[in-house]
Amino acid sequence: MPAVQNPPEKMMFQLTLRRRGISDQAVLRAMEGIPRDLFVDPADRADAWRDSALGIACGQTISQPFVVAYMTEQLQLQKHHRVLEIGTGSGYQAAILSRLCGHVLSIERYRTLADSARVRLEKLGCDNVEVLLGDGFDIPASAGNFDRIIVTAAMEEVPEALTQRLEPGGILIAPVGPHQGTQTLIRLTRTEAGLERKALVDVRFVPALPGIAREL
Ligand code: SAH
Repeated sequence: MPAVQNPPEKMMFQLTLRRRGISDQAVLRAMEGIPRDLFVDPADRADAWRDSALGIACGQTISQPFVVAYMTEQLQLQKHHRVLEIGTGSGYQAAILSRLCGHVLSIERYRTLADSARVRLEKLGCDNVEVLLGDGFDIPASAGNFDRIIVTAAMEEVPEALTQRLEPGGILIAPVGPHQGTQTLIRLTRTEAGLERKALVDVRFVPALPGIAREL
């Protein structure tokens, strides 16, 4: 019997993303190709293809697929781009990025999450992703600058130390706003005239907290 390539829930997943306005074919293909069920808690596998955020270890969340696709689309990725992600979590967003750019450095403050994301990404052959245990508010200078920066945890403000790491023409996307409640996705573009700021949509993310987590 032939393998089922597109079970109904996966077809619904694509349909939902398209209906909500995701139109970049490369992004849709990446979303189709990365098995989200491998990034959620085993107990949540049945819900992996639904368009909702789910709890993962360390009290954190894997984002809603629409938000992952939307943020990815807004980054306008090219194959040669070096991308920084702050907030590896499950590694799902990093896996999507890895299909669309040259290199991803993803930083996570929980060792447990960083370690398990690294294992998943390795199994999927995402060998252009490097997962680092660290603090996204304190990126080592040796990491250099980036063509794109994606922050997947809520920041009250985007620190200047972060925007300074954007290459000319670079784009940064981050949920900005209070830690409790709703934030707005902000897109910053480094132009010759300075930073261009655009508010996109309202979102809800877990907070970005300083320092490496003391608990695992
Ligand atoms: N992108 C993830 C979801 C991120 S949830 C995915 O695809 O699954 C937000 C993550 O950001 C959490 O794992 C949290 O621990 C991490 N985080 C919060 N503050 C951080 C910081 N200062 N540096 C690095 N990671 C941080």
